[in-house]
Amino acid sequence: MRMIMLGPPGAGKGTQAAILANTLKIPHISTGDIFRSNIKENTPLGVLAKSYIDAGKLVPDDVTVSIVEDRIQKPDCKKGFIMDGFPRTIPQAEKFDEMLEKIQAEIELVINISVDDAVIIKRMAGRRMCSCGRTYHIENNPPKVDGVCDACGSKLYIRDDDKEETVLERLKTYHAQTSPLIDYYENKGKLINVDGAKSIEETTKEIIAIIDKINEK
Ligand code: AMP
Repeated sequence: MRMIMLGPPGAGKGTQAAILANTLKIPHISTGDIFRSNIKENTPLGVLAKSYIDAGKLVPDDVTVSIVEDRIQKPDCKKGFIMDGFPRTIPQAEKFDEMLEKIQAEIELVINISVDDAVIIKRMAGRRMCSCGRTYHIENNPPKVDGVCDACGSKLYIRDDDKEETVLERLKTYHAQTSPLIDYYENKGKLINVDGAKSIEETTKEIIAIIDKINEK
């Protein structure tokens, strides 16, 4: 299964992508995670990405596209992948189509998780991250021990770009640059909308039912 998770920041794309990757045994590719690990290691890519991420802006398309192009050629992507946070602009989507065509592959499904801006702003304030990639929410998805990752025991942290003023900027960026992808994939007959205001479990169930239906065809 080659699929894309689309939706505004804080819609639950990363949470769902991680669960689905585990269930479907295919890689979860998050461009945001790739940038964050480069920022942590202070690589040239990390230094460049940080200046955009902290401002709530998108990292330039050419940089992001070449990261994805390298990543999808790795052997673990042969059976498919779940893209989380890519593409985020029409030019990225067009480049993505071109690179998939080159390897004679195509996107089978785009899940668009929709959530109102007001819900997102509230959600982001409670979001907590772990350096191992797990994400939590203090109300909707709390860790067993306050402030500590269930999976690896590390201390949880708040993403710099989850500050309210950056979240507002990220939402602006989403509406201007990413939301046109809804029509882009709708026109290709690939898009299925999912209500992201439901619980994590309900949303996962809904997405798995959609995938099962596609696999039955
Ligand atoms: P995320 O973890 O997906 O919310 O991404 C965090 C930040 O990384 C975004 O707000 C962008 O600044 C940057 N980023 C992630 N994916 C992309 C992308 N496909 N294109 C441009 N910037 C991206």
